[in-house]
Amino acid sequence: MKTKILLHFDSNDVPGGEQTVLSPSGCGSDVAEVQEWPIRRQVVEVRLDANDPRLPLLQKLLLAYKVEWFEDRWDEYTDEEFEAAPLIIAIGTWEIFVLGGPRFGTDYDISTACPVCGAGIRQTSAYVLDGTSQDSMPKLGQFRAVGSEGEILVDERLAETLESAGLSGLSFRSVYARQKDMRQTKLPWRQMWASHTLPPMSSRSTGVERGKVCKACGRSKFNFSLKEPLRLVYHARDLVGAQDVNRMWERFGIARWNGDLKTAVLSQPDFLVTPKVWRIFRDAGVTGFKWLPIRVVEDE
Ligand SMILES: [Zn+2]
Repeated sequence: MKTKILLHFDSNDVPGGEQTVLSPSGCGSDVAEVQEWPIRRQVVEVRLDANDPRLPLLQKLLLAYKVEWFEDRWDEYTDEEFEAAPLIIAIGTWEIFVLGGPRFGTDYDISTACPVCGAGIRQTSAYVLDGTSQDSMPKLGQFRAVGSEGEILVDERLAETLESAGLSGLSFRSVYARQKDMRQTKLPWRQMWASHTLPPMSSRSTGVERGKVCKACGRSKFNFSLKEPLRLVYHARDLVGAQDVNRMWERFGIARWNGDLKTAVLSQPDFLVTPKVWRIFRDAGVTGFKWLPIRVVEDE
């Protein structure tokens, strides 16, 4: 595993331009590039390994010139490390996000939902997408798997491959698209359905922003913090009974809930899967997901 860092600052903030700090710290065009951002901003992005000796040099120079900068940190893993992981989180990125869920006709049992954030709501029908979305629908032709409010949808062929692999904890639901005239048409896609939910992660997890977590249930509105790498930690005892496909207890991201499904935005829990599942996605050429092995600590 390697921890990577993306450091960025506005070149207009540096007297004489970005080379004033890049050259003396040895950051050449192999690691630094200037991006034109809107509103006449020129943002310099520098990508380095977190232990690269050029990093402290650059930080020192930025400090000396009183330049404000930002840092994102993340871990990159080798295939061997993925193969050895107890479980791997699959995070769907915006690239593969499609509109669907409660606002488009998917039904839910709301009797178990947190009154404040909606966490705990249970889907009781097939999953329905917004068939009129010009942004979402083309993605079904571009990708083999897409994400929708925390759900993972896979094309029929990928569903068959997953099904024939005999994975534990996994079943499938149908996927429909709601058309302009409100008719629902069935799509050659399947929704992944996990029967097992893991207990809460350990408080030793890092890269998790807890400031907005729902005060009523403590289960939703977790966010990813970019300041430190995301490392999800679980107690060994909490992985007893884990299946090949599981959902997390926590929910990341935006949620909007006032008791009405017609306006609800859900962030259902992310999936945690075994390397067997990760391998099937990789071999199928699936893109658009961030994969991250979890870490396990022995019980105190
Ligand atoms: Zn809540």
